[in-house]
Amino acid sequence: MMNAKRLYDHFKTQFDAVGIIKTQDYLDEATKMNREVPKETYPTMVVLGLAYPFRMLKHSQTHLVPSFYTFGSDYHQVLKHRIEIVMQAIPYPYHMGVDNHPHDERLAAVLGGLGFFGKNQLIIHPDLGSYMFLGLVFIDVLLDDTLNLKIDDDCGTCHKCIDACPTQALEEGMYHVEKCMSYFNQAKKHLTDEEVEANYSLFGCDICQMVCPKNIKKGAIVHPEFELSGKEMVSIMDLFQDSEKAFKKKYDHMAYLWKGKTILMRNAVMLLYRFKNTHYNDMIARVLKNNQTPWFAQTTKRLLEKLKQIQADDTQHSS
Ligand code: SF4
Ligand code: SF4
Repeated sequence: MMNAKRLYDHFKTQFDAVGIIKTQDYLDEATKMNREVPKETYPTMVVLGLAYPFRMLKHSQTHLVPSFYTFGSDYHQVLKHRIEIVMQAIPYPYHMGVDNHPHDERLAAVLGGLGFFGKNQLIIHPDLGSYMFLGLVFIDVLLDDTLNLKIDDDCGTCHKCIDACPTQALEEGMYHVEKCMSYFNQAKKHLTDEEVEANYSLFGCDICQMVCPKNIKKGAIVHPEFELSGKEMVSIMDLFQDSEKAFKKKYDHMAYLWKGKTILMRNAVMLLYRFKNTHYNDMIARVLKNNQTPWFAQTTKRLLEKLKQIQADDTQHSS
């Protein structure tokens, strides 16, 4: 048996936002909402929020930029490490999840009072806005009281994110995941012409966070792990010339690497086409010879043909 406030205080030493709920309440709510989540036997659930900073970097002729939530060390590792530090002082069995797990952490975050569910599909905390990573811990301990944190806020009549979304992935009360850039530019799939036209990022998408009025003056907290390391901008040459192993070593600990280098190469080709940057055509052709992963090869081949056409037109114009 443990006291909820004591558990809360332990986690507050490492996290900006902490919610504590009964696992059964979360499971009941998930069932009510037809969410498929696995059964859990540990009775206490802790939902955690860790702030990340808002920063803007721009693509250049030689380097490309992913979504700013990937800047600094990989948040999966950062959150897991911070959870382990807290749990060293709590002598009960536990297991955790950060992002890559079957639970509905946004539902848990709402139940735990971390924020409200925004129309941009993100949890919006009163002090952190949506600039917050989420993590979950299930603990095999019963609590002798409850901690009820409630958020009295919502999007109201605002629809700025809906208006700003370039792919119409957001609608009032709806989210079309397959249209979302952040989904399709992280998916191992062949990309359509519409997806190529819309995409502006090496990995992810920031638009619906950046336009949100709840994020004004938020994003100022910089935890040491999220300081800029110089690896936020990815060298196009490194992408196309380094082996997977060498690239992973050079860009170690970056969150945009968690799905592998081939996704980044496909997205880089998309951006080079968008910017009509033909300087890397020969390198792309060499990579294509050696990497025949179907979804990569199909999209890249198509875009390389277009890039070659642009190069040929440029040569014709300048001669
Ligand atoms: S992440 Fe980008 S594409 Fe996805 S909903 Fe937000 S603005 Fe639209
Ligand atoms: S932009 Fe407006 S509607 Fe969208 S999440 Fe923010 S407050 Fe809600």
